Amino acid sequence: MRLVFIGPPGSGKGTQAKLLQERLGVQPIGTGDILRAALKDGTPTGKIAEPYMKRGELVPDTVINDVVAEYFHGPNPPQKFAMDGYPRTLAQAEAFAASLRQCRLDLTRVLVFNVPDDEVVHRLSGRKSAETRLDDDIETIRNRLKVYNQTAQPLIDYYRRAGLLREIIATGDVEEIYGRVLDQVGP
Ligand code: AMP
Repeated sequence: MRLVFIGPPGSGKGTQAKLLQERLGVQPIGTGDILRAALKDGTPTGKIAEPYMKRGELVPDTVINDVVAEYFHGPNPPQKFAMDGYPRTLAQAEAFAASLRQCRLDLTRVLVFNVPDDEVVHRLSGRKSAETRLDDDIETIRNRLKVYNQTAQPLIDYYRRAGLLREIIATGDVEEIYGRVLDQVGP
């Protein structure tokens, strides 16, 4: 099971990746989580990423590609994984494909999590009080959503052409959505 999750912020990709980890041993690779940890630890990557994250913009491709490449170019690349929030641009998808080729892995499926915009804004403004994140204020939420809507389509088309794409209705109960994910992840 080697998966990419595509979806707007707050579409539940991270929650589903965590469930796949707990229940099936799939390694979640959440680039937002990795960047937040880097920022907290004050690493050079964290320092570069911070202003972009604060504005709800994408950090430069080269920065994020290097972060992800570290996972796949080591001695034990993950064999079962769910990419949560990467790739987000075509350039990232191409760099990721090269990384995977290098370790002789291929993707099994790419799942798109579909949630209406107003539901996303509602979910994320609720999250602010539960777990404070520097990018959960309303302006940044709207910008992250705008960035998603501007960048996701070419990525979706790219994976559709590769025959890997499946779409999921990502509204409703978490377990219900998990069932839909399992129906689509393939072998
Ligand atoms: P997320 O938790 O996935 O919503 O990511 C939070 C923030 O981290 C995003 O708004 C971006 O600033 C940055 N980020 C995470 N993943 C990527 C990526 N693949 N490419 C560029 N920026 C990213």
